[in-house]
Amino acid sequence: MRHVARTIAIIVAVMLAGCDGGSVGVGSGGEAVAFFDKPFDGDYPVGNFFDHDAPLASDNNGFVVDHTGARRAVGEPGAGSDGHDGYDWGMVEGTPIKAVATGEVVHAGDGAAAPCPLLPGSPVVAAKVVTVMHTAPNGDRYLSSAGHFSSISVAPGADVRAGDEIGISGNTGCSTAPHLHFEVHRWVDQRWVAVDPYGWTASGPDPWAQHPQGTASAALWKPGEAPTLVIP
Ligand SMILES: [Zn+2]
Repeated sequence: MRHVARTIAIIVAVMLAGCDGGSVGVGSGGEAVAFFDKPFDGDYPVGNFFDHDAPLASDNNGFVVDHTGARRAVGEPGAGSDGHDGYDWGMVEGTPIKAVATGEVVHAGDGAAAPCPLLPGSPVVAAKVVTVMHTAPNGDRYLSSAGHFSSISVAPGADVRAGDEIGISGNTGCSTAPHLHFEVHRWVDQRWVAVDPYGWTASGPDPWAQHPQGTASAALWKPGEAPTLVIP
């Protein structure tokens, strides 16, 4: 239970950041680690990338570095949220969302309530969030979290398999349009660290791997399972 409590504490911090806020396919030990299935059917436009420099709510450096090393100025498509710690896909409400791998549901319900400056009057809102803990084939531990659901299909403690429906996409929490927020953390150095499930494909060093709070990202999608990253 202790890891669950710790996990939930992390999730609360993670969802507070929310949307307002080169190791390809190799885990921390160097083994192949791709074990994620696609979390939804179909293709949807990506609204925000994981910011490798840096995926922290306090980032505010004016740009986003995606997994290819491309730098996007805040305001450009794909860089609407500086310091974004996951991926957003614009998605009509009602889209079934699936577990990406076998694991245990460690959170299913409202994330942390917080004022949302993106909405008129900055109301205090909370997104509906599901987080699943997974053990990778190489033994690394990961959390996958999906948020802004309209409804949740699982309960805390449930065991899920890849492809099981965990919720229905929506627009809850600090969100200005229906979308799915998807983020991944890896247990490293006794803490959960945000990582990019697309890995880092640029030839130069990954700024997040060099950051004191960061770590290297591995490409976690199985072949053919990575959601497309098409900017609208
Ligand atoms: Zn987001």
